[in-house]
Amino acid sequence: MSQHAKAFAPPPEVPGNARGAAHDGKRNLVGLSREQLAAELAALGEKPFRAKQLWHWIYHRGVTDFAEMTNLAKDFRARLVETHEVRRPEVAVVQVSKDGTRKWLLRLADGQEVETVYIPEEDRGTLCVSSQVGCTLTCKFCHTGTQRLVRNLSPAEIVGQIMVARDGLGEWPSPAEGRQITNIVLMGMGEPLYNYENVATAMKIAMDQEGLSVSKRKITLSTSGVVPEMERCGRELDVNLAVSLHATSDEVRDMIMPINKKYPLKMLLDACRNYPGTNNARRITFEYVMLKGVNDSEDDARRLIRLLKGIPAKVNLIPFNPWPGSFFECSNKATITRFADILSAAHISSPVRATRGEDILAACGQLKSSSERKKKSERAAGAQA
Ligand code: SAH
Ligand code: SF4
Repeated sequence: MSQHAKAFAPPPEVPGNARGAAHDGKRNLVGLSREQLAAELAALGEKPFRAKQLWHWIYHRGVTDFAEMTNLAKDFRARLVETHEVRRPEVAVVQVSKDGTRKWLLRLADGQEVETVYIPEEDRGTLCVSSQVGCTLTCKFCHTGTQRLVRNLSPAEIVGQIMVARDGLGEWPSPAEGRQITNIVLMGMGEPLYNYENVATAMKIAMDQEGLSVSKRKITLSTSGVVPEMERCGRELDVNLAVSLHATSDEVRDMIMPINKKYPLKMLLDACRNYPGTNNARRITFEYVMLKGVNDSEDDARRLIRLLKGIPAKVNLIPFNPWPGSFFECSNKATITRFADILSAAHISSPVRATRGEDILAACGQLKSSSERKKKSERAAGAQA
């Protein structure tokens, strides 16, 4: 297989723990859709309304112990304890940044690890959720991209990240108002549209009004530009879309985001034009990481305006976050301001994203399993010895 083909190889099938993972022989109820939960209970001889009750305990109340589910018959609870469980990923480490950002390193049943980040702001709180362990796409500025893809996350592991964060923030029962976690962004590790099915199941669970109850308007999926999945994502999930653009010519984008060789700018922007549900009140966010001398010229800003013509768009300028071994530099402050001013003059909203949680490597593009970091540093130490 050529290097190129390898970079775009589809991610491996989700292994056996995708749904109702077997753990100590017990099946996890987290991550099952409502229909799957009903089928699971039907197999135990239970009526469909039991699924509704369980759903409420699991996703509204956040309860993990069947004994606390007091409206279920005692003998049913006893049977559930024998065969099933309500399990989140295990919290390996929690770090809190001096700016209040929190990062959870989560250990999955097979020992793999992913990160989830909570970013509190004045008017909202955003949870940044991972969709894969590692990423196949090797974008040159991204720390996650240096870790080969290990596997897709299951629906339980994706929705489990939200539940762990709610545990950590003491946010059960699922509050209707005054929430700390108001928004969810699929901007953690991995490419969500390369794990569409599992991401979709998890997001449908997150949106369910009798459970976690996160409105689709408060969920944003960020993609590097997996064109064939974009329309379906908009039609089926109707979540907000963010697109990692990062360059204004195919030449530069090919270089920093290899996926561009497969889905070049024109194809990507056409898919954006056709993204369902987009209008001036509901714009696509274009993420643009500011890389000194690479994509930050005034010509780039003007080309960007031309590229976005006809698309209800806003641009999020992201100062490049360095990581150990990264070779790009962030653009100067003045360059970023000039870039933003040119976009504003063309009536394109272009806020500069505040870097958060940098002291705990929780900022955009800095996520990577710590075990992977450790392996790397051990290898480096071995090479030096
Ligand atoms: N795979 C998806 C979502 C995860 S990346 C995607 O690429 O869109 C989330 C965002 O962080 C993307 O816009 C990504 O381009 C950006 N990013 C990656 N590395 C970065 C870095 N070192 N500094 C700033 N932003 C970065
Ligand atoms: Fe993967 Fe997104 Fe990082 Fe690119 S920017 S390597 S697609 S996680």
